[in-house]
Amino acid sequence: MSTSPARIVIIGAGQAGGQAAYSLRLGGFVGAITIIGDEPQPPYQRPPLSKAYLKGELDADRLFLKPVEYYPEHGVDLLTGVAATRIDLDAHTVELSSGAAVGWDKLVIATGSRPRRLSLEGAGLAGILELRTLDDVDRLKAVAHPDARLVVVGAGYIGLEAAAVATQLGLKVTVLEAMPQVLSRVAGPEIGQFYNRIHRSAGVDVRTGARLVGFEGVGQVTGVRMEDGEVIPADAVLVGVGVLPNMELASDAGLICGNGIVVDDQMRTSQPDVYAIGDVAWRPLVHYGREGRLESVHNAIEGGKIVAASILGAPPPALDVPWFWSDQYDLKLQTAGLWTGADERIMRGDPQSRSFAVFYLKEGRVIAVDSVNSAPEYLVGKKLVAAQATVAPGELADKSISMKDIGARALS
Ligand code: FAD
Ligand code: NAP
Repeated sequence: MSTSPARIVIIGAGQAGGQAAYSLRLGGFVGAITIIGDEPQPPYQRPPLSKAYLKGELDADRLFLKPVEYYPEHGVDLLTGVAATRIDLDAHTVELSSGAAVGWDKLVIATGSRPRRLSLEGAGLAGILELRTLDDVDRLKAVAHPDARLVVVGAGYIGLEAAAVATQLGLKVTVLEAMPQVLSRVAGPEIGQFYNRIHRSAGVDVRTGARLVGFEGVGQVTGVRMEDGEVIPADAVLVGVGVLPNMELASDAGLICGNGIVVDDQMRTSQPDVYAIGDVAWRPLVHYGREGRLESVHNAIEGGKIVAASILGAPPPALDVPWFWSDQYDLKLQTAGLWTGADERIMRGDPQSRSFAVFYLKEGRVIAVDSVNSAPEYLVGKKLVAAQATVAPGELADKSISMKDIGARALS
């Protein structure tokens, strides 16, 4: 066991930063832990922000990762509403927006990501919103009265989950997606076509290949101007066009960054006393033999656990394949693995039944699965992905062969 450091500072009080602190305490770390968070709340989970919380089914304090008492009871100094403004690698300090500075022996950067913004004419008008924080949801809820016209820009997870809730709340929703299909960054065409149909049948005006050129309005947005001159009336616009990693603190300090802060398999940056985890980390993706940035709860939690093990000199946690989920209407989409690079797609089940899966293969091996309302396909599929198992495509497509049997044969 290596000697434990005395002071650990975590920048970012989100899913990853919170998990790092919990795992450190769980692992027996007895030194000082400080978490610096620029939001007013303690660490909270974001997934319900575009699902149950947006729908009004959950109170904000149900989103907190730990009750507020956890932090004083476990000797975790949680500073909220304070931003880290500069990292000094030589002095081993972090400067804060309050003017104070905090010293560290090990530093964990868990600053997450921020929504990309559109640089179009009128993009600064009131009523043009984004969805990342609890405060963002409150702004969206304030305009989400029945019959309001909401234009959603971007048909990724945020756009489609918010569109589903808004439609259920009675809003008139238009979705504008630049790509030829929805969910194209995260899922294959069969899944995109399915969700396109589902949203349209729920009354959402989904427009793919959409080219918006600006926003109309005086002070407050009143419409979205398209390339062909059409103006789509809007009482509010939600922009969900992806995120950018919050890595400027790290790059300004001289840490190596690309599309994220570059880390090794222990989440150590180019300075071994400094770690980066969560959305901001450009990390080895061991199941795929390459590196990348993941934007998911699983990745944030795993990163927190890996950092704690590394700092404590404990064995690293077992690494899971990347996994994601999305709730829209009565449909649960569950994804295991990353489908990019697949050379074959196998459909299992009929999308008309609203319960089906798509398996993604590369050179005959299962590299990812998307399942809609079909837990066995996800659960067994995740194991097939972890093993990069070879399964005959005909078997995967054949619903008369159970996933249990397919798994037993392929994984034995
Ligand atoms: P965050 O949770 O964003 O935390 C980073 C924190 O650091 C933020 O509070 C930020 O304000 C703070 N910070 C940044 N800079 C500074 C600074 N200089 N000083 C102090 N604090 C700073 N993932 C899933 O797997 N499933 C889902 O269903 C899902 N749904 C989602 C729904 C929504 C609406 C959103 C926005 C995300 C969703 N995600 C989902 C993604 C998931 O929430 C993120 O991948 C995860 O929160 C990343 O954790 P993180 O700690 O890296 O970043
Ligand atoms: P996203 O998944 O990257 O999707 C953004 C979509 O908007 C992409 O399809 C993108 O197309 C499109 N787009 C970009 N510019 C556009 C433009 N000018 N006009 C129209 N469409 C445009 O990101 P997101 O949905 O904004 O989500 C943000 C973050 O929250 C991500 O980290 C995401 O993983 C997370 N999140 C996750 C979940 C979940 O896991 N269930 C739910 C909500 C949010 P291009 O590919 O061409 O850029």
